Amino acid sequence: MFLILDALASGKGRRLSSLDVIGVGPRVIAGILESFGIDYRILRIEEFLSRKRHPSDFDVMLVSAMSMDEKAVSKASRMFDGIKILGGPITADLSVIGRLGFHLGVWGEGELSFSLLLDRGLKGGSLPSPKDLKDVPNLVFPNGSHTALTYLRKEDFLRFSPSIEAVTFYRKVPHYKSARVYVEVVRGCSNYNRPKIDASQDICSICNACYEFNLKKRLTCPQGIPPGCGYCSIPYLYGPPKSRRCDDILREIDGLASLGVKRIVLSGADFLEYCREDLVNGPLTHPSNPGPNLEALEDLLSAVKSLSDERGLFVEIENVKPCLVDEEVAFLLGKYLRGSPVHIGVETGNKRHADLIGRPCSPDESVRAIKLLKEAGLRPYAYFIHSLPGQNRTVARETIRTMRRVFDLGAEKITVYKFRSLPGTAFERYSAKVDKYSRMIVEVAIELNLRRKKELIGKVISAVVAPSIKRGVYAYPLGGGPVIRIRTKRELESGSLIKVKVTKVVYDRLVEGILVEGSESS
Ligand code: SF4
Repeated sequence: MFLILDALASGKGRRLSSLDVIGVGPRVIAGILESFGIDYRILRIEEFLSRKRHPSDFDVMLVSAMSMDEKAVSKASRMFDGIKILGGPITADLSVIGRLGFHLGVWGEGELSFSLLLDRGLKGGSLPSPKDLKDVPNLVFPNGSHTALTYLRKEDFLRFSPSIEAVTFYRKVPHYKSARVYVEVVRGCSNYNRPKIDASQDICSICNACYEFNLKKRLTCPQGIPPGCGYCSIPYLYGPPKSRRCDDILREIDGLASLGVKRIVLSGADFLEYCREDLVNGPLTHPSNPGPNLEALEDLLSAVKSLSDERGLFVEIENVKPCLVDEEVAFLLGKYLRGSPVHIGVETGNKRHADLIGRPCSPDESVRAIKLLKEAGLRPYAYFIHSLPGQNRTVARETIRTMRRVFDLGAEKITVYKFRSLPGTAFERYSAKVDKYSRMIVEVAIELNLRRKKELIGKVISAVVAPSIKRGVYAYPLGGGPVIRIRTKRELESGSLIKVKVTKVVYDRLVEGILVEGSESS
């Protein structure tokens, strides 16, 4: 039997945030195993690490993880004796396979590689020898050597469907009936601008690819600078965008709803990239030209809206790039997603800094996008990063000013992350330098978020009951927002829909409330 270990965002082995998220990766692996008729189980890595004894009926362990999860993955690897294969963004660092004691790694998009591995013997529980794997793309060996690293062709990408049934393995934290289940709609990113922080201006002025529309030319940089924002590995790992078929997405959502899933996130580095690649010849390597494929977006959103109304689902989208948002786009999103959260990366408030870090748009464009989306009835969440390369007093002050601007425009939440260098990116050799400016940015975010949370006091919110934990009863707001601790002695079933009146702000990410109506059936 195969074990899929979901380590995504587990850090050292204990997730501290996003406890209500079920990501796409493990379900994609599960879908491939199902197509081969192979028995498997999915476990969250916390559950695996907390067991004193491990079931001996697993022959192969497949781990899906991010770079930040190295500590948890290392512990899990030491506890397992069978064949161990590592996948997910963590393998952007090719040396991680050997360092963590894995037999094999799968870099970037793993669908084709993994199905070929199964074909060549893995389905029978044995690891094919490297000489039988020379033509299998994206494989990384313990010594760091690898086969050809490539992106899936769109026709191959479309051949694989994530398992629907696999979601039912998530019965603790998160529980599939209350979690946000991610459904992939588009993969990759069109931002093939490069961070200029280390670029020679003389070479750039001759090349100019970052500022032109030549899509093929934008694929490579004469200075060897990786594409995309310096803090993000998506263009490196997944290449230019490619979108799933609308029918496949609808079938997946419908299947998940049949099992009791209530919250769906239409997932992608940028939802507005959906089917944009159909508007150009060649790879979509420009982040804003052409604009979004409004026809395809409307077809998808109208069909998802009908389905979600029929099935009682709550649907949100993941991220949008500010440079793809205009009045028409905001109107379209507002028409189908009114009241839903929408996530927008602003990252820095300084225009020059935005170019230095490879952003596809300026802070002013981000502010304008947030304004338009708010006016269209969405609930924008604005993201910033502190301790980025190039951060200084001016950058920090302008970042704080931008945070206050988007707050005044009605941004639902200001999320600030600490910069983390990722392998394969232009900033892989930088490290976060936390200084007084970083602390200023964080403090302002906490202050603004507390103010916004206080506005919730007295409001009645629709929410879904979270899986029960010893410390109390918690619920997730259906339209997005802070986790709610519920003051009740009643036992509430995970996945039940409730209404809660907010009575108190506990801290910037947690509020407290009381039940207004009893739970409905789950
Ligand atoms: S592709 Fe490279 S050399 Fe060309 S403009 Fe961009 S950063 Fe400069």
